[in-house]
Amino acid sequence: MAMKVDLKTSIDWKEAKAFLKGLSDKQREEHYFCRDFVSLKKIPTWKDAEAKGAPDKMGKSQYQVDGAVNEKISIFRGDITKLQLDAIVNAANSSLMGGGGVDGCIHRAAGHLLKEECRTLHRCETGKAKITGGYRLPAKYVIHTVGPIVQGDPSPSHVQELRSCYRNSLQLVLDNSLRSVAFPCISTGVFGYPSEAAAEVVLGTLREWLEEHKDKVDRLVICVFLEKDEKIYRKLLPYFFPVA
Ligand code: ADP
Repeated sequence: MAMKVDLKTSIDWKEAKAFLKGLSDKQREEHYFCRDFVSLKKIPTWKDAEAKGAPDKMGKSQYQVDGAVNEKISIFRGDITKLQLDAIVNAANSSLMGGGGVDGCIHRAAGHLLKEECRTLHRCETGKAKITGGYRLPAKYVIHTVGPIVQGDPSPSHVQELRSCYRNSLQLVLDNSLRSVAFPCISTGVFGYPSEAAAEVVLGTLREWLEEHKDKVDRLVICVFLEKDEKIYRKLLPYFFPVA
């Protein structure tokens, strides 16, 4: 039986990571930074959420109705650090050493060991992604990706970079056999990507990815923080994920 590690005082991220890996889901809970975490079963799927809404606002969609895909996507408004999933994605900056916005929230919640592990990763290029442990987060892993910095209208390369953030993060989900992941609205804060344009890229990318890989995951959660983003996603979801 491994020695119990105190995540608040430990200075050894490798030891802490190995210790957490050996715990059951229930045992990990006592190490969370918060009590009010949100489990996957509390997050309705788009299929369930939309079934309760008004189905006549669908309009025409270029996509087929696919019940199996609609069960794998959710929108959740709130703090991504509270989500008890296999992984959450961090909208990091290229240093991977923490910053403002969601990045700062994730580093504060996970605790100082996250930064110690990030230090060993030596930066990350725009559009790429790297994975670490979640430490005191309810999420087991953090996938750090770096979105494009945009001023004015996004260029075709900004679009590709934003797509790559989501696709490369999802590749790490597959590589690590993870089943649930939440994404923040990457690049739409300090990095300046216009929110609605970003949402269109994100939804197209997630739809395409799920058509290919839906059997390998339980859920992709779009975690919106601002009311504005919730409105945008609720408006666009029926086009990318038609229910009827
Ligand atoms: P970027 O530098 O990639 O633009 P930001 O952190 O500035 O990243 O913003 C990305 C998005 O994350 C914004 O929509 C912001 O509202 C949102 N955000 C900020 N804090 C949180 C949080 N705790 N949970 C989820 N999303 C958050």
